[in-house]
Amino acid sequence: MKSIVPFISMLPKADIDEWLKVLKKKLPKERIVKFSSLKKSDYKKIDVAIVANPNPTEVKKLINLKWVQSVWAGVEKLVESFKGEKVKIIRLVDPEMNRTMAEAVLSWVLYLHRDMHFYRIQQNKRIWKENDYIKPSKKIVSFIGLGELGSASAVKLIKNGFNVCGWSRGKKNISKVKSFTGKLGLKKMLKQTDILVCLIPLTKQTKYLLNYKTLSYLKRGASIINFARGAVINVKDLVRHLNSGKIKHAVLDVFEQEPLPKASILWKHKNVTVLPHISAHTNMDTASDIFYKNIKMYRLKNRIPKSVDKVRGY
Ligand code: NAP
Repeated sequence: MKSIVPFISMLPKADIDEWLKVLKKKLPKERIVKFSSLKKSDYKKIDVAIVANPNPTEVKKLINLKWVQSVWAGVEKLVESFKGEKVKIIRLVDPEMNRTMAEAVLSWVLYLHRDMHFYRIQQNKRIWKENDYIKPSKKIVSFIGLGELGSASAVKLIKNGFNVCGWSRGKKNISKVKSFTGKLGLKKMLKQTDILVCLIPLTKQTKYLLNYKTLSYLKRGASIINFARGAVINVKDLVRHLNSGKIKHAVLDVFEQEPLPKASILWKHKNVTVLPHISAHTNMDTASDIFYKNIKMYRLKNRIPKSVDKVRGY
């Protein structure tokens, strides 16, 4: 008999239906159902669930649940909801997501590197004037966070001729990427950075990591790309640096409140590019293949995939 794997989510109905369709196709040996289709007598039979922004109250009803597979890479909300609980959280690790993020990072680094925002503003004013061209080999792109997404993106930038640095908790050994750690390391790295890319999880330690003081370490005229989470940057402090010209441009894909409220000054700031959280979506097909492998390994060998460290927060 097939085991039940509920898909627990507060996403819009159309998204849930799409997920159910793909999961049923990709995990034919499991009985994939939405939470609302479960009978009360099913609750105690469930040991693994697939989750996408789940209602924690529903998850907590599954008294024998051992682990949840998140459909996303960022799990700060799950960590917060299940802090004191035994249930393990498995985040999505998908090479296709790494590829998509690396593609987004390269695209927006090139946007800043080739001054596209600057020429757009000039065009609006009918100005014909060229900026100096500086080769990628003369520019330093730095990453805050060198994990799955940061390291894949760093490698892509190296292949495109940029100098690359990265800051992480532990020292990294990625070919041609200069690794920095610790508070002092962050300061040293920021001081030489032309373009800063944020790909660090949101945790207690990283909330407002980039604030007035840390942002002031950047080189004058540096730019920022935030593809991580909105609260990694204190936006008020960022705007002060944008207004003073210390920071040239910010490409923001993530915000403390999403969708970005209509009243936000970021929409109309001439040196801000607002993106609607699109840098790296979960690909349902490739992600479901990963869920299949993870659940198969658990069923056959009772092995739960590497889980999130709830104390560390990622
Ligand atoms: P990851 O594999 O967990 O890597 C996290 C990196 O951050 C690691 O290098 C880690 O250092 C470093 N780090 C964490 N806390 C730190 C601290 N306090 N001090 C210094 N370094 C610290 O995460 P990922 O898969 O690369 O994803 C990063 C984030 O991207 C996700 O958490 C999510 O918020 C965001 N994301 C955004 C989108 C989007 O569409 N915008 C899509 C997917 C993900 P160590 O390696 O030393 O542990």
